[in-house]
Amino acid sequence: MQYPTRTGGPWSHETHWRRRRSLSWVGAGPTPIRLTHPVRSPIHLTGHPGEALAADPPYQPHGPREECGVIGIWAPGSAVARMAYVGLHALQHRGQESAGIAVTDGGQLSLHKRLGLVSSVFDDETLIRLEGRDEGGRRPKAAIGHTRYSTTGSNTLPNVQPVYARADIGELMLGHNGNLTNATWLRDELTEQGIEFGSASDTEVLAKLIAHAPGRSWAQRVDHAFHRAIGAFTFTMLTETALVAARDPIGFRPLALGRLPGGGWAVASESAALDAMGARFVRDVDAGEVITIDDDGVSSHRSSRASPGKERLCVFEFVYLARPDSVIDGRLLYEARLEMGRRLAREHPADADLVIAVPDSAIPAAIGYAEEAGLPYREGLIKSRYVGRTFIQPAQSSRDEAVRLKFNPLPELLSGKRVVVVDDSIVRGTTTAPIVQMLRSAGAAAIHVRIHSPQMKHPCYMGVDTGRKEELIAASHSLDGVRAAIGADSLGYLSKAAMLEAVGGRTDARCTACFDGIYPTDVPLDLDKLALERR
Ligand code: SF4
Repeated sequence: MQYPTRTGGPWSHETHWRRRRSLSWVGAGPTPIRLTHPVRSPIHLTGHPGEALAADPPYQPHGPREECGVIGIWAPGSAVARMAYVGLHALQHRGQESAGIAVTDGGQLSLHKRLGLVSSVFDDETLIRLEGRDEGGRRPKAAIGHTRYSTTGSNTLPNVQPVYARADIGELMLGHNGNLTNATWLRDELTEQGIEFGSASDTEVLAKLIAHAPGRSWAQRVDHAFHRAIGAFTFTMLTETALVAARDPIGFRPLALGRLPGGGWAVASESAALDAMGARFVRDVDAGEVITIDDDGVSSHRSSRASPGKERLCVFEFVYLARPDSVIDGRLLYEARLEMGRRLAREHPADADLVIAVPDSAIPAAIGYAEEAGLPYREGLIKSRYVGRTFIQPAQSSRDEAVRLKFNPLPELLSGKRVVVVDDSIVRGTTTAPIVQMLRSAGAAAIHVRIHSPQMKHPCYMGVDTGRKEELIAASHSLDGVRAAIGADSLGYLSKAAMLEAVGGRTDARCTACFDGIYPTDVPLDLDKLALERR
C-alpha cells in the first residue's frame, strides 16, 4: 500500500479527512512526527475548547480508581461501531474520563474520541458516520474501542485512546489497558531515534514501539514489542486490514474472546461486555497471546517472552475492579465475592444484629458474610444511582459532603443495631471514616468494619491508581491504628490465603503486589502518572 506524502500522494488521507471535516471531524495539521513515510496525521478531532486543558481530577470516594476497558470486533457486514459502543457502555466502570472508537473498512481507518462518558462521547450521528452510512461509503468491517481512566498522562484530549501510529507497513490505532513501567525509558530511546510524540501517555509509546519494531508482519512487530515493554499491556489494535488483540506476557489485565452470532469475533476486557454485544464467551486470551483476525481468518501465537507459570493476573479484578457478572479465569466474580464474604465471616466474626454492604461492589461479599454468620443482610446504605463512579473533586473540606452525596443511610433500619459493614478495601481511609460516622449518626449502636481483601500496603504500578505508598493508610498504621482512624468498633481484613482460595484457580498465578509487595515485574522507584508530561 502506498502512502500519501506531505506534499500529496496517490490516495490521500487528507482528502478523506477533509471530507470528514466538512461533516464533523477536524482535519489534520502537519504531522508532529518525523518518520520514514511522512504523512499528515489524520487524527485531530472535534471537542470543546476546554477539553485540551487538563480536566479537574475525578474524585472517586470509594476504593482505588479503575484502569481502562478495551473492545475489539471483527464482523464484516455488521454494525461494528454500534457494537463497540454497546461494549464500551458495559465497560464504563473501568474508566470514565474519555472514550473512543476506531473503525476500518479494509482500506482506511476512522476514529472518533473525546473526553467524557461513553454516552456523551457518541451519539447516533457519530455512529452513523463511523459506520459509513452517511455517505454510502464502504461499511467498516472491524472496530476497536476504549474507555479510559488515566494512570499515565493527564486527562486531556491528546491522551485519549485509541492512539494513532504509522509504520512502513501501514497504520494502526491502539487502545490499551494497563501501565508500561518502563515507558519513560522506551520513550527516551524512541525519541533518540527521531520519533516524536504528540501525547504524554504510555499508550502512544506502546503504539510507536510496535509501529517502529522490526518485522514484516504486525504479529512480528507486536512480538518484538513484547520483548521491550515491561508492565501491564492488554490491548486491542486496528490496522487497515486486521484486528490484533493481545495480553502482556504476565497477563496482569484480563481479556475475553467471544464469537458473534453472525460469525464474527469480539474481544473485551470483561466477558460482561461480550454478553452486552450479543457475543458468546469462548475463552480468556492467554497471557502473552497475540490473536490476529483478518480476511484470512483467525490466528494466534504465544510470544516467546511468555513462559508458562509466569502469568500473574491481577487479583484485585476479582475483589473490586471487574463487574460481578463477568467470568475471569473460569470464575464468576459474583461467586468469588460471595465466597470472600463467607471466609471473612469465618476469619472475623462479630457480635452483631445485621450485615450491610458499602454498595455496589461489596454487596456479594456482604451477602456471603451474612449467610455464613447467620445474620440478616439489609441495605442499610442507599447509593445514589445518578452519581457516577467519578465526579468532580470536591474541596478536601467537603469530602464528607461527597460521601453524603453518594450514600444515604437508613436510620429506621440501623438505629440501636450492632452493624457489620462490609467493604472491598480501605485505601486512604478518607472514605471509610465518613461512612462510619454516617452510620453512627444514623443510630448504629456498634460498627464492625469487615474488608474482603487484605490490607493494601503497597502501590500498584500496573494500571490501577491506588495512590502513593505514603497515601495508603495500612502502610503507615497498625491494624488498631486504622480502626481508630476510621472510628470503627472493630476492624477485620480477609487474609491473603482466604482471598486467593475464594478466587480459585492457581493461587500462584495471581498478582497480589498491592497486598504483599511482591511485584511480578520490575517497577519504578516512584509512582508518577505525569512523568511523561514533564519530559
Ligand atoms: S498490584 Fe494490586 S491492583 Fe495492581 S495488578 Fe497487582 S493485584 Fe492488581
